[in-house]
Amino acid sequence: MRVLRADTVVTVDEDDRVWSPGAVAIDGDTLVAVGPPDAMPDGAVLDLGRSALLPGLVNTHTHSPMWLFRGLTEDVPRGEWLDRRLRPIERRVSVDELVAGARVGCLEMLLNGTTTIADRYAAMDRVAAAVEASGVRAIVAHSLYDADAERGLRTTELLLDRFGTYPDRSRVTAGIGPHATDTCGEDVLRRVRALAERRGARVFIHLAQSEAEVATVRARVGLGCAAALDRVGLLAPDVVVAHGTYLSQDEAALVGRRGTGVAHCPSSNAKLEARVAPVPRLLASGAVVGLGTDAAACNNGMDLFEEMKIAGLVHKLATGDPSALPAARLVRMATLDGARALGLAHLVGSLEVGKRADLTAVRLDTPATTPCHDVFAQLVYATRGRDVQAVWVDGEQLVRDGRPTRLDQEAIMEAALAAARRARG
Ligand SMILES: [Zn+2]
Repeated sequence: MRVLRADTVVTVDEDDRVWSPGAVAIDGDTLVAVGPPDAMPDGAVLDLGRSALLPGLVNTHTHSPMWLFRGLTEDVPRGEWLDRRLRPIERRVSVDELVAGARVGCLEMLLNGTTTIADRYAAMDRVAAAVEASGVRAIVAHSLYDADAERGLRTTELLLDRFGTYPDRSRVTAGIGPHATDTCGEDVLRRVRALAERRGARVFIHLAQSEAEVATVRARVGLGCAAALDRVGLLAPDVVVAHGTYLSQDEAALVGRRGTGVAHCPSSNAKLEARVAPVPRLLASGAVVGLGTDAAACNNGMDLFEEMKIAGLVHKLATGDPSALPAARLVRMATLDGARALGLAHLVGSLEVGKRADLTAVRLDTPATTPCHDVFAQLVYATRGRDVQAVWVDGEQLVRDGRPTRLDQEAIMEAALAAARRARG
């Protein structure tokens, strides 16, 4: 039995309880007590001092290998980013180089306090091993396209065989990753729906992420992107749509009515599209909205503390209402609601007895993070990933004093930086 004590414990439970001071007790991989320090069972005590202990953050949309491309696609006019700027760079790198990028991408996320990721990219059959080796909790999906559907579906089946779809049994599980509604037509999407039923897998897809996607789908089937997905049964609680940047208010309401999971990536949307996704409408209609960083090439980091702040700011601007999306709600989006979108809320996302010990501790003793009069505001608007001091997944400490315990940071960075130089060309 181990007991972690901290000045503040943010539970994100049903009542948003905060314990000051607080503690949690961990037996193996499971939380067995959460509350004031004097209510803890006997055990080895680690006192985290002037810090906040919170549920590990949940990144509902990322592409870990794209760590390699940070800074290579800057300030691009709308409509040019993916095909004209990113794709030529991607063609320059090998699968081994993508694996090297994924290693340090996962490390970046862990060091920033993220304990769960939904990761999707090409070559996921190889990349997934790097994700798994990092220790982060993950759902991995191989990107499927019409242009290479048979091979993509075979790779997806291999991933499903290797990692399964039972998060209670495996820290890494597999999902199905059709790329988007323009690059995957109805035939592939119907096969995805059937495969998801057969294997009990979640589906991850980009939705209405660009004007070109909206125009292509409209020309092909005469529908908006959301209606096109709905027609093949892929607006549903076991589907996570990323972005939704170009959804109309009516489409957002449809996504919400189906109880769809949404990966909201506000900094990526702002930087690549200069747009704000209709999150208030999605939330009001019943969507389960988590936060995602998207790739390091998009925004240019994988820091969910920063993402919470940007989400708060852009929706205050977009609604003209400074009281929109309060800080506690943003913390919930980055933890429990993200876990709900990924189908993991029975395991992680809040600090409650019986859940897995996925925790992040952030320092609240620096000039930038004191005084702490309001811990939720502090976490959203004052704290950054670089303030993370410790991280646990399944009770295993993966970050101690801001350094990884499992990974050799210097070695994996050297390999990844060499790969990044080749990506630059
Ligand atoms: Zn994406």
